[in-house]
Formats: sequence, structure tokens, C-alpha cells
Amino acid sequence: MSESAVVSEPVHGTVVVIGGGIAGLAAARDLAIAGARVVVLEEAHEFGGKLRRREVAGLLVDVGAEAMLNRRPEGVSLAAAVGIDVVHPAIASSRIWSRGALRPLPRTLMGVPLDLEGLEATGLLSEAGLAAVRREATIPATVLTDDVSVGALVDRRFGSEVTDLLVEPLLGGVYAGHARELSARASVPQLVAMAERGSILEQSAAAADSQDHTYAGPVFAGVEGGMGRFADALEADLRARGVELRAGDAVRAVRRTTHGFEVEAGPLGRPELLRADAVVVAVPAQPASRLLAGIAGVAATELGGIEAASMAVVTMAFRAEDVPSLADTDSSGFLVPPVENKRVKASTWSFAKWAWVREAGRGAGPDGEDLLVLRTSLGRHREDAVVREPDDALVSDSLLDLAAAAGVHARPVDVEVHRWMHGLPQYAVGHLERVQRIRADVGHVRGLAVCGAAYDGVGIPAVIASAHRAAAEVLADLASRAPLGSQG
Ligand SMILES: Cc1cc2nc3c(=O)[nH]c(=O)nc-3n(C[C@H](O)[C@H](O)[C@H](O)COP(=O)(O)OP(=O)(O)OC[C@H]3O[C@@H](n4cnc5c(N)ncnc54)[C@H](O)[C@@H]3O)c2cc1C
Repeated sequence: MSESAVVSEPVHGTVVVIGGGIAGLAAARDLAIAGARVVVLEEAHEFGGKLRRREVAGLLVDVGAEAMLNRRPEGVSLAAAVGIDVVHPAIASSRIWSRGALRPLPRTLMGVPLDLEGLEATGLLSEAGLAAVRREATIPATVLTDDVSVGALVDRRFGSEVTDLLVEPLLGGVYAGHARELSARASVPQLVAMAERGSILEQSAAAADSQDHTYAGPVFAGVEGGMGRFADALEADLRARGVELRAGDAVRAVRRTTHGFEVEAGPLGRPELLRADAVVVAVPAQPASRLLAGIAGVAATELGGIEAASMAVVTMAFRAEDVPSLADTDSSGFLVPPVENKRVKASTWSFAKWAWVREAGRGAGPDGEDLLVLRTSLGRHREDAVVREPDDALVSDSLLDLAAAAGVHARPVDVEVHRWMHGLPQYAVGHLERVQRIRADVGHVRGLAVCGAAYDGVGIPAVIASAHRAAAEVLADLASRAPLGSQG
């Protein structure tokens, strides 16, 4: 909800928001603007969840999310509302590390090629693989009666090489998941819609010919100083609105009472009970499942079935003079198809991608030399063992792959290893129906709503959209109630 939304009467009542990631903070803002008294309870000692910064060689950079889609409004408009101007990548062309070389990434939609000539030029696919792609134009529309995996859909239309070499690394970047397990309807709805109309290649060629600029503008936006600043600004905005923000305050249970809810928070053995008229549960699927167990059993069971992938982000600062092979790069990093059996699944060359990172590194070395900051990520769904490797192993694995892929043979001056255990929910086949069942069950409990990355998309704009929705549901419920005074 925007500030300009028409709110006829201020809403009364106390809403407890559980979870202070971007979802919880965004929901809290809508609720506060509408007049509710809002308390946000966050287990960690800082707010922002996956929007988090850490120092590497004295430079504060993102170790979680580092960008958001610019072509959906929710992220950039919330950033603007809390006084954050977005920036766009200086270089937005990633590479695919395949068969011993970094190859250009052709124009794709989540790895599905949209431009045959561009794909041919990359040398990524074999002749047989390219022949399968060319045949896509002759395949009739794929009408899905049931959900299928992304891989099944792409295999059917484009052949398995496209899935293995393009879709897997792209999906790996967003979900840390596997193409042949993730739901097509939930993860790539645009592709499903195109496939249901006919040839994806023909439709994208027609759109290019007609200069369809519906989605004009940069694809991604970031924040100077890091996405973590977005969360900080949101936190400051909430404080200014009188929202009570409590960090280091885990919620252990939520119970229903005659008129609302009782939320049990605080350390074990010294629980604090908070009374609330409404509750927004904005935590990942597994903790949400535990919290809802006593009040929305079906939703709790369904949430318990949503798996999550763990990943490690290794951020490194190099002396610019030590990494000459990166000096004039025209790439923002690379993605690695799992069939390559490498250790890292992606590397983002933050210094090349974001002008502010390069600027921050100027003269920032121990002896005033320029520093280049980049990061690697390791770990896909069901690879928790990889993520749990000691820091040293994750760093040396990253360095081995950077050496082989990009000729980086130096030691970094500083590193920061950040693990995101169960950090990315996996939208398995049937996810949309699962979410419907969750929302239906939660909807039976007056004053209860859920939001976050487990539901309608893991990207920041989609997560914020789910927060707006949860806040609107709670506000509609509060507005429909009798004045609090008459509740006795
Ligand atoms: C490494 C990484 C990189 C990413 N990069 C991008 C990107 O570039 N662009 C993009 O759009 N998306 C990206 N994502 C995805 C995106 O960042 C997340 O989906 C989104 O930030 C999730 O927000 P959330 O509020 O739903 O959850 P979270 O950020 O997980 O917040 C939930 C909060 O709930 C708290 N919590 C949990 N249990 C309790 C409890 N019992 N009581 C109180 N608090 C509790 C947690 O501590 C946490 O702070 C990335 C994700 C990861 C892991």
C-alpha cells in the first residue's frame, strides 16, 4: 500500500509482525501508515533478513541480496518511499563457464533462448543441441493440464542441452535449485504462458521485430552502498512512524485468545507474552510451519513441506594490480552449469557490476592501492554439506575456480564467508496449489496473515508484494471489527 492510498478511517488495534526481513518490514510499514499499533519481533540481532551487509577489507558490501528486479514496481517504489535512490548495473552481461571457457550469455528468459542467432554465436551448445532448439518453432503449443518442472517443459520444447547448460545455471542463481524439480508454473510463469500459445522462439522474435518496449528500462536495480541500506532506511522509516522494532527477540509460539492472539517471545525460560489483535507471520517456511502449528494446522503442514536450499557467499577483496585479467572486464561475472561439476555455482564481479563498489575500492587497500571486490556462491538444494565446509575450504575452492575460469591467481587481501542455511525456498511442482491451500487455511483465522519468500516468488519485489497483500488482509479484518472498546 502506498502512502497516497485512500484510508478512510485510521485502523485501531495492535498487530505483531513476526520476522524483520524485507517482508516483515514492508508489511509493518503498510500497517503503521493505516494507523495500527505495530510491533516487529525479529530473532536476529539486526533487521533486514537476507538484505545484509558485512565489511570486507574495510568496505561495507552486500553478502545477501545485491539487486532487485527493476521491471516490477514493488521494490523500487518502496525504496523511493523510504528515501533510497536506486542505481543500475554498470555492466549487466554475465558469462557461462562451460567447456573450459567463459562464453557470452545469450538473450534468454530464465535460460530459455530468445534469440537463435545470439545463441549460435556463443558456441555453448553442440550442433545437435542447436538443431533441437531450431526445431522448437515447429512444436505445437504445450498446454499444461498439470504443473510440470521447468526442466520437463524446456526439455520438451528445446532439448536437454538448453536445460543443462542454460536453464540450470540461471535457476541456480535465483533459487539455488534444480531445473527438473522446480515448478514451471511458479518459477517461470511467463515461459509457461508463451509455451501455451506456441513457439517461444517465434514469439520472442516477433516481439523483437515489433520493437515491443513494454518492459523497457534496465532489468535490475541496486542501491549505492548496498541493498542493506534499503533495509536500514526502511527500519528508520518505521521507527519514525512509531513502530516498535525489537531485534534479538525470537517468537516461540502463537496462540489464539478470545479476541485475538497471544504471542510468546523472548528467551527460553523467560518468555514474554504479547497480546495482539492481529498477527503477520513473515518468517521462512519452516519457522512459519512451527508457529502456525497450533492455529492453522493445514497451513503448518503445507509450509513444513517446502524445502529450502542452503548457500554460501564468499566475498573477496583483491588488490587490483594482482588481478590484471579482471582489469578491463566487460562482464559482471559468470554462472556455472551443474553438469560442469565445478565447486562454485556463480561469481559476481561486484566491482564491475556496480560503479559504487569500484569507487569504494579506490585507494582502499592497506597501502592505499585500489581494491576490487567480487563474490562467489556455492551450494545448491540438497548440498548442505558443501555449504558447511570450513571457511578456508570454501575460499580455496572459490580461488581454484576463479583461477581456472578467469585467470585470477592472486590471494585476496580479505575475505568474508557468509552461510545462508536454508536461505532459499524451493518451489516444487504444485507450489501454486500448495500456496492456495496455505492461504485458504490461514484465511480461516481472523486477523492472521502470512508473507515472505515462501509464497509468490523469492525475488525482493515479489516478497514485498506478498507483504502488501498480508497487510491489506489484516487491515481489512481490523476495519471490519467492532471498535475495540466494545469487545470487552
Ligand atoms: C544469498 C542470497 C542472495 C539473494 N540475492 C537476491 C537478489 O540479488 N535479488 C533478489 O530479488 N532476491 C535475492 N535473494 C532472495 C531475497 O533476498 C529473499 O527472498 C528475501 O529477502 C526474503 O525476505 P523475507 O522477508 O521473506 O525473508 P528473510 O529475509 O529470511 O526474513 C525473515 C526474518 O525472519 C526472522 N525469523 C525467523 N524465525 C523467527 C522467529 N521465530 N521469530 C522472529 N523472527 C524470526 C529471520 O531472522 C529473518 O530476519 C537472495 C537470497 C539469498 C539467500
